[in-house]
This record gives sequence, C-alpha cells and structure tokens, in this order.
Amino acid sequence: MKKLSLKVKLTLLYTFFMVLLTCAALTILFSLSSREMLSSVQARLTQRVQESIENIDLRGDEIRLDSDFYSVSHDVYLAMYNEGMYFMYGRLPHGFRAQPELSDGEMRTIRDGSREWYVYDMSCRLSDDLTVYVRGVTSVTDAEESFAVTVRLALILLPLMVLATALIGYRFTRRVLLPVRRITGTVKEIRSDADLSRRVGLTDADNGKAPVHRDEFYALAETFDGMLEELEEVFRREQQFTSDASHELRTPVSVILAQCDAMLSDESLTEEQRSQLALIRRKAAGMSDMISQLLFLSRADQGRQPIHRERLDLSELTEMIIEEQQMLADGSGRGIRIESRISPGVEADADETLYIRMVSNLLSNAVRYSHDGGKVEVILEERDGEVRGRVRDYGVGIAAEDLPRVWERFYRVDSSRTETSHSGLGLSMVRWIAHAHGGDVSVTSEAGKGSEFAFYFPAREENEKNKKSCFL
Ligand code: ADP
Repeated sequence: MKKLSLKVKLTLLYTFFMVLLTCAALTILFSLSSREMLSSVQARLTQRVQESIENIDLRGDEIRLDSDFYSVSHDVYLAMYNEGMYFMYGRLPHGFRAQPELSDGEMRTIRDGSREWYVYDMSCRLSDDLTVYVRGVTSVTDAEESFAVTVRLALILLPLMVLATALIGYRFTRRVLLPVRRITGTVKEIRSDADLSRRVGLTDADNGKAPVHRDEFYALAETFDGMLEELEEVFRREQQFTSDASHELRTPVSVILAQCDAMLSDESLTEEQRSQLALIRRKAAGMSDMISQLLFLSRADQGRQPIHRERLDLSELTEMIIEEQQMLADGSGRGIRIESRISPGVEADADETLYIRMVSNLLSNAVRYSHDGGKVEVILEERDGEVRGRVRDYGVGIAAEDLPRVWERFYRVDSSRTETSHSGLGLSMVRWIAHAHGGDVSVTSEAGKGSEFAFYFPAREENEKNKKSCFL
C-alpha cells in the first residue's frame, strides 16, 4: 500500500466503499422484493379465483362460465370441480399432476417433483344441491425464475458499474491532483538544473496545459510560485552583492600588491622590514586569487561566464600545465615530483583558459596536500569519445565524511591545516568547468593515503548527451 500513489489509494478507497454500499443496498432490496413478489403472486391468484366465481351462473341445469375462464391470465390456471373432486371445466398447467384435496379458501404450496405451485380453492354454491369448487393454480418456480433473471442481471451490471465508477473516480482524482504533480515536476526540474526562474504556472493561460480550478491545491501552487519568486530575488541580490564586492576589492588589492613590489625593490630596507613586506605581499596575492575566483563564480551564477570552445591538443596543453606546476613545486623546495601518463594526440573542443584553470587547480591541490618528497601522477586519455583525466597524490587524503562536501564553496576539510589564502573555492570552480563542458568530476580518497580526482567530458561538443547544468 505504501508504494501506491495517492490517486490510486483514493480510487481504491471509494471503490471499496461503493462496492460495500451497493452490495448492502442490493441485498436488502432483493430480500424485500422477493417476499413482495411472492405475496403479489398469491394476491393475483386469489383475485383471479374470486373474479371467476363471481361470473359463474346457473341457468336451469346448465352452468355458465365467463369466456376467459379457459384462458390463462397472469400465469393463473383455473379449473372447476364438483364436491366429489370430479374435474368439470377449465385447464391445469402442464406438469401439474398433483391432485390435492379441495380446501376452501386456503392458500397452499404444493411441491410436485422439482416444481412448486400455489393452489387456491374456493367453493361456490350454485343451488341447494349443487356446490362447485374453482381451483386456481400458478407456478411459484416460474415467478422465482423470472426474479432470478433480474438478480443475475443486477449481478452482471454491478461489477460494470463499479468499474465505471472506479475509472471516472480515478480520472477525477488525477485531475484534482494535477497541481501537486506540477509542483513535484517543478521542484524536480529546479533540483536538476538549479533554474529558480521555473514556475508551477497554473495561472499561465499560454502554457498549453489544462486549466485548473481554484481549489486548495491551486492556492498551494500559487504560494509555491510566490516563494520561488522571492527566493530567486534573494539569490539574484546575493549574486549581485558578491559580484559588486569582488569588483570593489580588486582595485585596492592591486594597489597593495603594486606598492609592496615597489617597496620591496628599495635597497635600504632591513631584513626584518623586507620579510614583513613579503608577508603582506603573499597575503595580498592570496586575496587577489580569491577575488578572481569569486568573480568567476558569480559570473558563472549569473550565466555571464563566457565559454569559447575550440579544437585543442589537450595532450600538449596538459604537459605544459604539468611543467608549470612542477616549476612552482620545485620553487617551494619540498621535493615533490609530478609524473604523467599522457596519451598522445588527445584532442577535444574545450575552452583553453577554463581547461588550464581546472587542471592547474587539481594539480596545485595535489602538490599542496602531498607529503614532502611525495609523488603526484597525472593521467590523460581519450576513451569512447570522452576525454578522461586523473590527478592522483599520496598525501594527506580526505576522510570519508568530508568527501561529498569538498565541491562546496568555501569548504575546507581542515581550515587550520590550509593557509588562509586558500578559500575553498577551487574545487567548486573545477566542477563548474567540467559541467560547462558537458562532463563531470569525481573524487576517491582515503585519509592518510592520498586522493584521486577524476574529470571527464565529451571530446566533441555535439556529443554532449546529457549535459549537466552549470551550477555549483
Ligand atoms: P582550497 O583552495 O582551499 O584548496 P579547494 O576547493 O581546492 O579549496 O579544496 C577544498 C578542500 O578540499 C581543501 O581545503 C582541502 O581540504 C581538500 N582537498 C582538495 N584537494 C585535496 C587533495 N588533493 N588532498 C587532500 N585534500 C584535498
């Protein structure tokens, strides 16, 4: 019952009650009408016998009868007997062979083989020495059989009626629950592509969907649309704020960086002053990176991040990124080696700047979270029309409970471990870039043993079958 939809549950419920009620009503009706039917058969029999007696006449020695004494009316057969049970006139039904004693004014039920009969006798005194009896006979079995036909008909019609009611009820419930289906559909669409501009749109006359009456569900859908409207506005304002704030911060940070560079070139600085200035410069450079990542993400949110895909030799480009990252790693003096297994001639339609950003981010993370003297591996290949890349390190790794959250903005597994200049925005960007190329990213990791980040996307733009929406 749990898995059934609400409309099926409702349909089953009222169909069940409908069957119950109809069965109860029919049982009462049939038991009452069967009794009623038998008593009306008896009444007809008595009446027919009485009417025939009223029309009997004695003219001299001759008994005169009404002309329809011989005819069978309302299934009642009439016969006349004298007191000695001698048959004088009339007809008896075929199959009625019993010869019960005459019994004046008594309704009797006579069983004759498999059939039952009502027999009603009535005496008529024609003269002082002549009394005759009129016997009326009618079949109970025939009356019961014609009633049984009605019952059978009702029993055939009942399931048909129930079926029709269930069908009509199902369609009705489906129609009433239409707004709920639309709300569910809208929520699913929003969840799959994070497009808050979607609406349930029951009032929208041009949306080609059936009009819906203004009931409670309609009000719910309307409230839902109102809430989406507000949410969209809040998100829009938040994105605008991030974008504006990042823009405003860019200039002062650039000024700080330029001033630091200028002051560091001053030969008269003491060692202490030089190292203090270098620290300020490092922090300002970190801030500048963070601001550019924030700008990137807010542009992506607003759908303003441009993507220019062109045919690129990714093997060559990846080798170049590795070289650059190796130089940076060497500069830190931690003795980290980057090894690569790049399939030659991997070509794809990709945005060069975004691809460099994605791979550089994964590589710089791998280097940063490796142990000193550790090794980082990069694999790139093309398989089944897809570019697949992996960046593996043997460093600190990520605990299982943190893994699903590393793609979130500003999420840092251990903020005390990472430098404050690392804001936790890098992987959000990596994921957005993979989605923007119609692909995706994944991570496997074990705390203390290292991590492997993988990305894939279709090598050709037209191969993007189920392109993921570019949201983070
Ligand atoms: P950040 O700029 O702080 O590195 P990211 O979004 O790139 O931000 O990464 C988010 C968090 O995921 C990091 O703070 C770090 O804790 C974790 N992380 C990312 N890459 C690795 C890795 N290769 N090994 C271990 N932890 C990682």
